[in-house]
Amino acid sequence: MLYLCATPIGNLEDMTFRAIRILREVDLIAAEDTRRTRKLLTHFEIHTPLIRFDENCKAAVAEKILQRLQAGESVAVVSDAGLPAISDPGADLVRLAIDAGINVCPVPGANAALSALICSGLDTRKFLFAGFAPKTKKNRREFLEKLSTIDATIIFYEAPHRLKNFLAELAEIFGEREIVLARELTKVHEEFLRGKLSELKNIAEPRGEFVVVVEGKNFVAPLEENPLEFYRKLLAQGLDKKSAMREAAKKFNVSRREIYNAIIKEGIQ
Ligand code: SAM
Repeated sequence: MLYLCATPIGNLEDMTFRAIRILREVDLIAAEDTRRTRKLLTHFEIHTPLIRFDENCKAAVAEKILQRLQAGESVAVVSDAGLPAISDPGADLVRLAIDAGINVCPVPGANAALSALICSGLDTRKFLFAGFAPKTKKNRREFLEKLSTIDATIIFYEAPHRLKNFLAELAEIFGEREIVLARELTKVHEEFLRGKLSELKNIAEPRGEFVVVVEGKNFVAPLEENPLEFYRKLLAQGLDKKSAMREAAKKFNVSRREIYNAIIKEGIQ
């Protein structure tokens, strides 16, 4: 059996009874960072052997782990925090195990994305976990542009030193939306910063770990009017193009870029 085992995202009390038992019982624990995991294991008096399993050594170690699984041993995968395979190593190993006919078993527990979502106050009925945005600007913009039309709450992970820049781009591409920054979840300084993207993008010196939860696109155009018609109407009233675009974006809660793209597509002068 290959176990995918959750570990706390900050608060050690979030370790489950089952996770402790499974980690004691398995033959081997595959950990993203063995030093970090050893501290956790020591705290819970778990003495199972550890093997390093991170992004850099994945293929070779995965092969070793598979061999042991095929020999009838049981292995648990843990990451530094939360659920393995969620923006953390583990997914490839699950695929390999399934292909080799080995059973996989979840040992659920803490997860930053869902913890942030359930306290966000945003719509939880339909959501999309987007993880980390790509690091290069071009890929990141493409990624965000695709997500900007989705009518479901969107959850991002982001490192604190990239957060300000990420929020600025999000505001530019998504337009005005409700947003929640869930900071230091389950830790002493846990807090939820709620507001509009235009307000929270100016967050001063982000510190700690963050999950960004953004309202989905809620584009309901009145029957008699859509953003382009409204833009045309404003032009006819004598407003300049830039202001008309800004007003239309504001009224229909879409980004200026979307209005701009629609104008180009329709060939409006
Ligand atoms: N596997 C983890 C999970 O299940 O949540 C996620 C690991 S990912 C490498 C790390 C990112 O998760 C951080 O950059 C941050 O965005 C988010 N995160 C993890 N712990 C957090 C916490 N305590 N509070 C807020 N965000 C957290």
